[in-house]
Amino acid sequence: MQAELSVLVGNAGNWLNEHIRHLESHDIRPVARAANDATYETDFGRIHLQVQDNELQVRIVSPDEAALTTLQGSIFDYLKETDPAVAQRVSWTGVAPAPGQPKNFREMTVQTIRPVSDWMLRMTLKGEDLAPFDQRGLHVRLMIPEAPHGRPLVWPSIDSSGAVHYPDGDDTLTVRVYTIRHIRPESGEVDIDIVRHAGGVFSDWSETAEPGQKVGMIGPGGGYFPAAGWLAIGGDDTAVPAILRILEQREDEAGGQVIIGLHPHQEPQKIELPANFAINWVATSDLVNAMQAVSSPSAANCVFWFAGEAEQARALRTYFKSELGLPAERRSSAAYWRHIKAA
Ligand SMILES: Cc1cc2nc3c(=O)[nH]c(=O)nc-3n(C[C@H](O)[C@H](O)[C@H](O)COP(=O)(O)OP(=O)(O)OC[C@H]3O[C@@H](n4cnc5c(N)ncnc54)[C@H](O)[C@@H]3O)c2cc1C
Repeated sequence: MQAELSVLVGNAGNWLNEHIRHLESHDIRPVARAANDATYETDFGRIHLQVQDNELQVRIVSPDEAALTTLQGSIFDYLKETDPAVAQRVSWTGVAPAPGQPKNFREMTVQTIRPVSDWMLRMTLKGEDLAPFDQRGLHVRLMIPEAPHGRPLVWPSIDSSGAVHYPDGDDTLTVRVYTIRHIRPESGEVDIDIVRHAGGVFSDWSETAEPGQKVGMIGPGGGYFPAAGWLAIGGDDTAVPAILRILEQREDEAGGQVIIGLHPHQEPQKIELPANFAINWVATSDLVNAMQAVSSPSAANCVFWFAGEAEQARALRTYFKSELGLPAERRSSAAYWRHIKAA
């Protein structure tokens, strides 16, 4: 399935260089690069960018429409971020996004909510056609009405440029990113594990949510699956669902070290480790030190992965890259939430 786009972007050569630099800052590198073009391979398909004079040409080849729509949306968002006027001229040929509900959106219904531990709730959501959510990514955006009302809910819509429009005014949605902890496409169910933290909009909502309530879900997206090799994997409570999914899907026996940070009121959960893994539970405030203290048995065949609060993730991103000198495919450090200091 294929789509193309040609759009005037001013100095297209500069635009391409800037774009490549932007992606490199997120550790995304082209698989092929020439003076006037670059090709990227993603889990959602292949993107080819070419510039000629003032024109940017984009060609996307994806395995299915949901994946294509995801890539068209990300190209649109990037163009809009760099120049909103350019985004207004976006018009796809080939398969253009079908206006209406995005192909990667599902309306889900709360089935059950129960505690996994005293600091985490498990919410099971039910919906249709979930097989695509079992591929290409670990995470989803969940959405609930900002202010509950008795009217039918209004969900996001997409237009033919690939722009996703979220409702506003009385229909505004609270949107948060969560990890799919388990997925059972055959019964149309996903489990989401939600850290309980007072004052969080989604977390507080889940404390009182009831079976039958509707939740919007868009995805999947993101979620770097570490390459084979000895694995140092760590994070705080919000990273536990992603860490467990990664450990459960581990096939090689190289083993590794798990580091999980807990707040003073939290007790460790029972975790089944794959062969040759050890686990250390530490205070969340010590996570950066604990990750930096991990020493891998093989410098050439190790992978470091972290997810947690933004400042810790930033510190470890620099450490993995500059101190350990790990190449992009052997490191990942992601911000899952940001500590907002009281004014
Ligand atoms: C890729 C990805 C995957 C994620 N997966 C999960 C997951 O599976 N389970 C999960 O629970 N979370 C997960 N998160 C984190 C979650 O999206 C954030 O914690 C989110 O802010 C929670 O929304 P909220 O409405 O409850 O709190 P918000 O309304 O966003 O925040 C309110 C206040 O609480 C603070 N805050 C936010 N999160 C936390 C926290 N966890 N602990 C303490 N204080 C916090 C904020 O700084 C803010 O001051 C993930 C995030 C990302 C980016």
